[in-house]
Amino acid sequence: MLEQKRLELLIEAAKRLDAGFSGLPIYESRAPGFERMAEVLTTTAERLQDNYPYFHPLYAGQMLKPPHPVARLAYALAMWINPNNHALDGGRATSAMEKEAVAEIASMFGWKTFLGHLCGGGTMANLEALWVAGQVRPGKKILASSQAHYTHHRISGVLQLEFESVPVNSRARMDMDALRKRVERGDVGTVVATLGTTATGSVDSLPDILALREEYGFRVHADAAYGGYFGLVDNLAAHAQSAFARIAEVDSIVIDPHKHGLQPYGCGCVLFRDPNIGGLYKHDSPYTYFSSAELHLGEISLECSRPGASAAALWATQKLLPLVKRGEFAQRLERSRSAALALYKKVKDDGRFVPAFAPELDIVVFAPRANSLSEVSAKSRAIFAAAAERGLHLAVAELPVSFFSSLEPGVRCDRETLSCLRSVLMKPEHLDWIDRIWQILASAAEASQAPKSASRSLGQP
Ligand SMILES: *Cc1c(COP(=O)(O)O)cnc(C)c1O
Repeated sequence: MLEQKRLELLIEAAKRLDAGFSGLPIYESRAPGFERMAEVLTTTAERLQDNYPYFHPLYAGQMLKPPHPVARLAYALAMWINPNNHALDGGRATSAMEKEAVAEIASMFGWKTFLGHLCGGGTMANLEALWVAGQVRPGKKILASSQAHYTHHRISGVLQLEFESVPVNSRARMDMDALRKRVERGDVGTVVATLGTTATGSVDSLPDILALREEYGFRVHADAAYGGYFGLVDNLAAHAQSAFARIAEVDSIVIDPHKHGLQPYGCGCVLFRDPNIGGLYKHDSPYTYFSSAELHLGEISLECSRPGASAAALWATQKLLPLVKRGEFAQRLERSRSAALALYKKVKDDGRFVPAFAPELDIVVFAPRANSLSEVSAKSRAIFAAAAERGLHLAVAELPVSFFSSLEPGVRCDRETLSCLRSVLMKPEHLDWIDRIWQILASAAEASQAPKSASRSLGQP
């Protein structure tokens, strides 16, 4: 059931918001008739039915997580005003809320003085971080691992910065020997450390990258779009924990509140440790300043118009669920991580499957056993489809065979990568549903053994 009860809170809040404007002369906005809107909205709801049930625990595939009800309601409430956080004239209250909410995120990373703001998402946030990197280290290269988000390569192209990819080890972390050899050759301006890769949730060895920075003086940008909030949890393994423990030492950080921060899409965040980089954004456009003399967020952002509603939603969520260790927010994330560990154990203990390495965050990657990589891949797709028919939604990923060190040596390597199953267990409720998820998975594996359904290839939508 979609959550509806709390909609009543929105009506109360809208009345309170309205009361703030009670001094104005009466005015009725001319909206189309009630019936026509009802009709269109019903059709909209019907169109929206054509989605996977992202909000349900049996959706355990891609990185999709429902926003918190308070985020949804605060966003909707702000829509009556539709503030624009480009400038203070466009969104006075929501600009203040953005500054407060972003300061709370920075404080989670241990930063008190910093420069930062919200933006459209991780892509925009990384664009901004690499733009600054290119300004500060002109003519130098950007390095990221081969498992870093593909956006870094593409963005470097947009910014006309040279990009090179560094190989990864069998845990999908940046290979430190390869990085050392590359930075020894000189010419490297910035190293992107991914704290939680998008495919497997692997965490680059930040302490080792920082040690190399001591020697070679490059910038370090942490892409924590996915993993950033995991610094709050108490159940990480030592490697990931040691990376998050040093995150305050990087030059810039990207985190996506619209991934693990319980926000609707359109909410990324970029932070810079040195507030002086603000000078890079200088421009002298006459039309953004209007009347306000105070520094506004449009002066330190590449994007101009930005939704104040995103700031209101984030602010409200962090008021309800503060970003502190052992708080409710942290405990919810811990449950996601526990769910991943539980699923990993089931997969590992079962003869039909082989997991890649142990999950570092809440993403589990595993493959069905078979005689060749082609067969493994075909089976992965068959199980994906059979699980979907049974109401369980997983994802299929294409990954290097080197991530699967426990695939027996007898497997014929007739291709370089394999299609495997991937489950992102982002919802705290996933922990309560692991047994159910496993039952369906086992039954899907059985069904795709049977010759009849194995030959029926539904493929990926
Ligand atoms: C999701 C992700 C991005 C891209 O962010 P969007 O919000 O999808 O634009 C970049 N880096 C990492 C590590 C990510 O997980």
